[in-house]
Amino acid sequence: MKLFAPERVFFDPEALKYSLGQRLYKKFIGTDADVLQLSPQNAARNIPGITENEKYAQSKKTLYITVKKSTRLDVCKPSADYEFSLVSNCPGNCEYCYLQTTQGSKPYLKVFANLEDIFGTIRHYMDSKPGEVTTFEVASLGDPLGLEHLTGSLAETVNFFGGLENARLRVVTKYDNVDTLLNVRHNGHTRFRFSINARYVIQNFEHNTASLDERLTAASKIASAGYPMGFVVAPIMIFEGWKEQYADLFTGLKKCLSHIGNSEPVTFELIQHRFTAVAKSHILQRFPNTKLDMDEEGRTLKWGRFGRYKYVYPRETAKEMNDFIQKLILENIPNAQIEYFT
Ligand code: SF4
Repeated sequence: MKLFAPERVFFDPEALKYSLGQRLYKKFIGTDADVLQLSPQNAARNIPGITENEKYAQSKKTLYITVKKSTRLDVCKPSADYEFSLVSNCPGNCEYCYLQTTQGSKPYLKVFANLEDIFGTIRHYMDSKPGEVTTFEVASLGDPLGLEHLTGSLAETVNFFGGLENARLRVVTKYDNVDTLLNVRHNGHTRFRFSINARYVIQNFEHNTASLDERLTAASKIASAGYPMGFVVAPIMIFEGWKEQYADLFTGLKKCLSHIGNSEPVTFELIQHRFTAVAKSHILQRFPNTKLDMDEEGRTLKWGRFGRYKYVYPRETAKEMNDFIQKLILENIPNAQIEYFT
């Protein structure tokens, strides 16, 4: 797919103290992108847009190169022990993205330039559990592969984890530009997962991300490069013909993985579609013609860890969905390891 090119790139002066910040500054200065140095307080103010829709669209074309100040990592259950970030947000426009609610009215993209500090934090958390293997999720706050052609920071991170005996990295992506990661010294310490879904979901709701075929091609390359592999099937939705489409998804996946052996488990994480009242309001303003099913009548309320009620499928529907998808996975992928359904 076409790689992202920002229309404006803002630099936090703090980021210019780090080699990644300097490298990105040299890359963008003199290009068509508007380049400015701005403090974190002023970044959002310099993004144009009056309506919610315009502010969203312009923010998604804006890159802010800054630093990650906090050295505290959040717990990231059920996917890993902790989460950390190299970037926040991504160039995609997934209508259901949970960042719709967590990143305010101007969800611009951020790159954290202080990799040295971030790696120091990871070492600290790893060392606090001597003798144990600690897992770290890098894609909770955004999709680092969507910006990897600009930053190279995911490759550096994979290489860093490759040298750590007691830490494992977990990546998940909806992008396909994996070529720069194929020869990195990963040592089997990075589990590379692709977010996959029925064609209906990808085509209608995951704008500006790689197509299903592109993701499967990338997954095949990553498998050939010896990375531990996984797939996040999310968000699973019920729509007309959903069973046929999910069945097609897993027969396609079986073909894509046919060239790799069955020795290593391929992990699967299953996440049903959910939304909050706040997310629904943002989505309807940003995507007024959305086909996303957000009818509260067809859902049930569940208390979420971010302190908000979310609407999920009723228990019986969720069970049918879980049973059906698990059966498809086990029929098609002999070495599948299903980690959770939520
Ligand atoms: S790719 Fe991921 S982070 Fe980016 S918009 Fe889609 S769901 Fe959100």
